[in-house]
Amino acid sequence: MALAQPAEGVLRLGSSMINWYLVADDDGVVLVDAGAPRHRPELEVGLEQLGRTIEDVRAVILTHADADHKGFAEKLRGERGVPVHVHTADQRLARTGKKDREAGMLPYLRHPAAWKLIGALAAGGIPKNVSEVQTFEGDAVLDVPGRPRVLHAPGHTHGSVAFHFERHGVLFVGDVLYGFGVMTGKQGAQIGPRAFNASSEQALESLSKLEGVHAKVVLFGHGEPWTQGVDAAVAAARATGPV
Ligand SMILES: [Zn+2]
Repeated sequence: MALAQPAEGVLRLGSSMINWYLVADDDGVVLVDAGAPRHRPELEVGLEQLGRTIEDVRAVILTHADADHKGFAEKLRGERGVPVHVHTADQRLARTGKKDREAGMLPYLRHPAAWKLIGALAAGGIPKNVSEVQTFEGDAVLDVPGRPRVLHAPGHTHGSVAFHFERHGVLFVGDVLYGFGVMTGKQGAQIGPRAFNASSEQALESLSKLEGVHAKVVLFGHGEPWTQGVDAAVAAARATGPV
C-alpha cells in the first residue's frame, strides 16, 4: 500500500497517532522528525516510494526534541552519520530527555483518547537521547533539501518550531499545533494539552508566528493533514484555547 503523499515530494509516515515525514528535493531527502524508534524500517519503504535510497538522506530536522519526535534519530545518526538538527532551546531536551510540563497527566485519564495515546507511545519503543546535535535559531533557512525556513514558536517546548517548505507548499508544525486532541479526542486544530506543554499561554501567543505563512497544507506531529491553510488552523486553535 502506498504511503500518503500530502504534497508533491512529501510523504507521511508513522502511525495514525504519531507522524513523521520525508521531503524530497533535487539534492536529496530530509526527515522531518523521526517518529518512534520502531518506525525505523518504514524509512526504506518511504524512500523507495520516492525513488530514492538511504544514500540520499541528508539530515533529520526536529520540530522539537520530545521522545515521540526524536524516535530513531540517534539510531540513524549512529548508522549513517546523518546529522540531527534542533533549535538551540531544545538542545538539552534532545540530549537528556528532561522536559518541563505545566500540568500532570491525571486529569486526562478519564478520556479514552489519552489511553490510546499512551498505548501508541508504549508500542513505539523507548527512544535514545541524541548525543550530538546541530543547532539552529528562529528565522534560519536550513541548508538541507527543500531549504526550509524556521519559525520559532515556543510554548509546547522551549525550542518548538515550524518548518516552512515554500516550494513544496507545506508547513510542518510539529506540536506547535495538533490536528486533534490527543488526550481528549476533541476534533480540530488546537495547541497541545497542558500535560505536554511547558507553557500553554506561551504556546497560544506563539501562534502569531505562523500567521500569514502561505502554505495550503499544514502537517502536524499528531493528526491528519490540514488543507485549509495556515491562518484557518491558527484561528481554530485560538477559538479552542488551552486544552
Ligand atoms: Zn508529539
